[in-house]
Amino acid sequence: MITPLMPTYARMPVAFERGEGMYLYDTNGKKYLDFYSGIGVMCLGHSHPSLVKALHDQGSRLWHTANTYQIPEGERLAKRLTDACAADTVFFGNSGAEAIECAIKMVRKYHYEKGNKGKYRLITMASAFHGRTLAGIAAAGQEKLTKGFEPLPDGFDVVPFGDLDAVKAAIGPETGGIMIEPVQGEGGIRPIPTDTMKALRALCDEHGLLFVVDEIQCGMGRTGKLFAYEWSDIEPDIITVAKGIGGGFPLGACMATEEAASGMVVGTHGSTYGGNPLAMAVGNAVLDELLAPGFFERVIEMGDLLHGRLAALQQRHSDLISEVRGKGLMAGIRVPDVPTRDIVVDLIDRGMCPAVAGDMVVRMLPPLILDESHIDEAVNHLDACLSDLREKRKSVS
Ligand SMILES: *Cc1c(COP(=O)(O)O)cnc(C)c1O
Repeated sequence: MITPLMPTYARMPVAFERGEGMYLYDTNGKKYLDFYSGIGVMCLGHSHPSLVKALHDQGSRLWHTANTYQIPEGERLAKRLTDACAADTVFFGNSGAEAIECAIKMVRKYHYEKGNKGKYRLITMASAFHGRTLAGIAAAGQEKLTKGFEPLPDGFDVVPFGDLDAVKAAIGPETGGIMIEPVQGEGGIRPIPTDTMKALRALCDEHGLLFVVDEIQCGMGRTGKLFAYEWSDIEPDIITVAKGIGGGFPLGACMATEEAASGMVVGTHGSTYGGNPLAMAVGNAVLDELLAPGFFERVIEMGDLLHGRLAALQQRHSDLISEVRGKGLMAGIRVPDVPTRDIVVDLIDRGMCPAVAGDMVVRMLPPLILDESHIDEAVNHLDACLSDLREKRKSVS
């Protein structure tokens, strides 16, 4: 019999009751170090006092009014975001998938308004993840996402990850843009090299294409800059954001330059909930913390520490860990010979929550507020888990 909660997830056998800072507590009171942040959402950890306050204050005043009216907190958040990045304007939605949908529509509308309505196709990269709408799964093109949901919307050309020649070969008269994750998340914590980011920007300039960066997982400070594209010294035309931007409150955004958004006039797009006063109050409170002096410097410092410790872990377990990947506080270890889920289940049992990513990678997206002691704690758990795993394999063989 089907469960009342639609069974679309392989859920771990644990339920949490409470969270505080870096830790989660399950219904039995057991404590877990959170190295997943609810898929990179809880960027400031759990029950952050200023987010709780923003939610309570706004929650007792006004939740929702509809975009028929002005929303000053939304104007403020949009101004602060655009001041901090390459974009000039922001559309607020409630999730990553909606941000992607807005980006895809914007690319098409841009070329349509320029008199090039045939330029509707986007080039994307294999093992990407762009959300679960029909367009999002078509953009990612992975069979595990698309199978059974055909026919998919037309307009996406998927090339191998990081393959510039394939991108060049895929550019045709109908190409309108290129959409990539600067660091692939679900696909296995894979950063696109800086040179490739620059080359993609140059290709877009050369062919009149819009460059869309999906920063839904890697953005909002995760890599130590507000957006991961900043590491390659380029400016995209469209940026999609979600996850960390709401610190746990459902919020997403599609941000664009004035030029890229030139077709998005009154009546072209909308969302009932998008950017409502409650979401905007929390979004502004998240940004207060992220933009505070020294915050990103600390993320970079902790990211370097984490990657250093993971590199040392790899040396101790070179028979099991084939690669350490990532940027800043977006990290993964690739353990090719063991089912990733088994490792994650074992770590949860030990009191640490990482997650599965593609390509046999154990993914870590800790809250950005962690300190060295949490890194030590996590690496100790990983160390013990891998040592036990080796012993078990020995005794079997
Ligand atoms: C999570 C994610 C999405 C989809 O976001 P939802 O909020 O789940 O719709 C899209 N792109 C990337 C890179 C993501 O990590």
